[in-house]
Amino acid sequence: MDIALNLVYRDFITAGILTQELKVKNTTKFKTVNNIIPDNWIYVQEKDVKLGRIQVFNNWSPYMVAQENDIWLGLEYFCNEGDELWSMPDKNFLQFCIQELEKLNFIHSNNVKDGCVIRVPKAYPSYIGSYNCLYKLIEYVKTIDNLYLIGRNGMHRYNNQDHSMMSAIVAVENIIHGIRNKDNVWNINIEEEYHEKTT
Ligand SMILES: Cc1cc2nc3c(=O)[nH]c(=O)nc-3n(C[C@H](O)[C@H](O)[C@H](O)COP(=O)(O)OP(=O)(O)OC[C@H]3O[C@@H](n4cnc5c(N)ncnc54)[C@H](O)[C@@H]3O)c2cc1C
Repeated sequence: MDIALNLVYRDFITAGILTQELKVKNTTKFKTVNNIIPDNWIYVQEKDVKLGRIQVFNNWSPYMVAQENDIWLGLEYFCNEGDELWSMPDKNFLQFCIQELEKLNFIHSNNVKDGCVIRVPKAYPSYIGSYNCLYKLIEYVKTIDNLYLIGRNGMHRYNNQDHSMMSAIVAVENIIHGIRNKDNVWNINIEEEYHEKTT
């Protein structure tokens, strides 16, 4: 019980910013709708902003944006539930986001048309706190025959979508075939090498 209660998470806020224009221009050879920058997401390294990553939703699919000429940005902030960022009222938070984008020379505030804020508690299972003892908890839950812990928070593991789905598939196959040993579920995503690859 203590192990479960002392598992630690990193929380997350994403803010959507709808803008008519980006200051940053597409200087690559990649063609995009309206020739905006071609990135799906950009990791932000600048130390004078709190922003961690920017998504450009148009580049996931232009159909994610109602007006073809607009750009929906997704700003991502890694934080802890209840901290200064988390507690900021939405209106102030959006203002803060716009200021950060201006600081990065990414947009001009006059072009912003809309915004929204979504707070995601427990977005990232962290490998601190009681994590070192998690194996004891796993051994315990394995003894409960009809309990299958799967997915990201179910396993307290930094699973991607493919790992999460695979854990569900393997659990269902175990149930169908009457396999009681759950090691094959817990062996998903324990490789040292990280799966995401760029092409
Ligand atoms: C910011 C961020 C970016 C990510 N980017 C990527 C990526 O690019 N590629 C990738 O592969 N993976 C990515 N992931 C990881 C991916 O989102 C997860 O691995 C995946 O969603 C986990 O699936 P899941 O089914 O375990 O949990 P979830 O998708 O979180 O589903 C759990 C569901 O259970 C519901 N729920 C919770 N408690 C209860 C309750 N008591 N009763 C009923 N319902 C409940 C929740 O509302 C939720 O809908 C990202 C995760 C985050 C947070």
